[in-house]
Amino acid sequence: MEQLIIIGSGPAGLTAAIYAARAGLAPLVLSGTLPGGQLTQTTLVENYPGFPEGVQGYDLMEAFKKQAAHFGARFQSAAVTACELRTEAGPHTLTLDGGEPLTCRALIIATGATPRWLGLPAEEALKTKGVSSCATCDGAFFRNVPVAVAGGGDSALEEALFLTRFASRVHLLHRRDRLRGSQIMQDRVRGNAKIEIHWNTVVADILDPAAGKVTGLRLRDTASGAESALACGALFVAIGHDPSTGAFRGQLETDAEGYLRLPGPGTATAVPGVFAAGDCVDHVYQQAVTAAGQGCQAAIEAERWLAAQPPLAES
Ligand code: NAP
Repeated sequence: MEQLIIIGSGPAGLTAAIYAARAGLAPLVLSGTLPGGQLTQTTLVENYPGFPEGVQGYDLMEAFKKQAAHFGARFQSAAVTACELRTEAGPHTLTLDGGEPLTCRALIIATGATPRWLGLPAEEALKTKGVSSCATCDGAFFRNVPVAVAGGGDSALEEALFLTRFASRVHLLHRRDRLRGSQIMQDRVRGNAKIEIHWNTVVADILDPAAGKVTGLRLRDTASGAESALACGALFVAIGHDPSTGAFRGQLETDAEGYLRLPGPGTATAVPGVFAAGDCVDHVYQQAVTAAGQGCQAAIEAERWLAAQPPLAES
C-alpha cells in the first residue's frame, strides 16, 4: 500500500509532489491522460511568477516534474477510472486504465479539467479533421487559410492570437457583445488586424462531415436569429473546461458542474485522508499559480493527516 498517491501531474499535482517528496513521503504520482496537464498545450506563459520574459508551458511543467523527482517522487503513467474511498481509516482503492489497482492511505486529487465542446454532431465527426480544442497542437496545419475560434474568455483570445501566426484570417466568434477575457488580452486581440470579432454569434453547424474536413461554418446571430455562412478551414473550440472528476462520482460531493466540493477552508474533502487541489476544485481562478498554491496546501495537509494516524498494523 502506498502512503500517498497524487492523481494528476499539472501544477497542482506536481507542486503537491514536490512538497510531499521533500517531507519524505515518496509520493506516487499518477500522471493521467495528459502528463504535465493543460499547460503543456499552451505556448508562452507570461504570468507565472519568477519568469519576467515568460516561460514555455511545457518547459515549466518539465521543471516541476524534475524538481519533484529530485526529492523522491515516483511517477506512473496511468489514469484513474474509478475509486473506492473508505470513510474509516482507509485504505483507498484506485482502479486504473490498464494496470493493477492501487491502494493508499492518503490521496491528493489534482485531476484538473478538460476542454468543453459545443455539442454539435458535426463537431464530433470532424475532431482531428479541422475541429480542435488546441491551437498550439493543431494551428500550424492551417497556414494561409481562414480559421475560426469559438469563445470569449482568455483561452479563446490566446488561441486567436496564436493562430494569427499561421492563418490568413482569424474569426473570433463570441455569443455575447462583451468579451470575458482579461483586459490585456482583449487589447491585444483588438490591436491585431488579422482578427475579426463576430459579436452575438454562435456556431449553428460545422461543414462538411461528408467531405471529411472543415470547409466552413453556419453561424447564428444570437440577437436576431439570422444565419450566415463563414468559409474557414478549421474551428478551434475554446469555451471553457469541465473538471475531470468522473472517477470520484458518488464517492465525493461535487457541485452542479462537477467541481469537487470541499467542506472547509483547506483542501480536505469529506473523506478522511483525501485532499483535492487545482482545477478539479477551483472554478473561479483556474491559474497555474493558484493550482500550485493549492497543491502545496494539499501536500502539507496530507502530511499532517498521515502523521496523526496510528501506525499500520503488521499483517
Ligand atoms: P472561461 O473564462 O470560462 O470562458 C469561456 C468562454 O466561452 C466565455 O466567453 C463563454 O461565454 C464562452 N462559452 C461557454 N460555453 C459556451 C457555449 N456553449 N457556446 C459558446 N460560447 C460558450 O474559460 P477559459 O477561457 O478557458 O478560461 C478559464 C480560466 O483560465 C480563466 O480564469 C482564464 O482567465 C484562465 N486563462 C488565463 C489565460 C492567461 O492568463 N493567458 C489563458 C487561458 C485561460 P460567456 O462569456 O458568454 O460566458
